[in-house]
Amino acid sequence: MLKRRHYHIVDMESCVLCTTQEEETIDHLIFNFPFSQACWAKNGISYNSNISRIGATIRAKEIYSGRLFFEIFTITAWNIWKERNNFIFNQISPTYNAWLQGTKADLSWLRYRVSTNLSDYITSLVNNL
Ligand SMILES: [Zn+2]
Repeated sequence: MLKRRHYHIVDMESCVLCTTQEEETIDHLIFNFPFSQACWAKNGISYNSNISRIGATIRAKEIYSGRLFFEIFTITAWNIWKERNNFIFNQISPTYNAWLQGTKADLSWLRYRVSTNLSDYITSLVNNL
């Protein structure tokens, strides 16, 4: 965002979470960072970041075997982002367990917005994560 708005604060907006000095792009942080890849795998979403983001998302939906793909996709990415922000603003390193607890909590909230049938599905999903 800083780069897009032409704010030049540092030489390169490198990823704060890893030592590779890779630029912190959406693709790196949300999809390619090993931590993130583990999160996607846990939720059963296979994301091929070698193709365009929209193409990869469509492909991931096609091969996803469960229901509520976009809700789970969004909650997965949102909780990766929250782990990153927790590091930046609270100096708390991201952990897989913290991501998992946040993801389960957000999925649990989702139960109040859906039919009983889907609510039961979400309960099962959360219990099996
Ligand atoms: Zn990184």
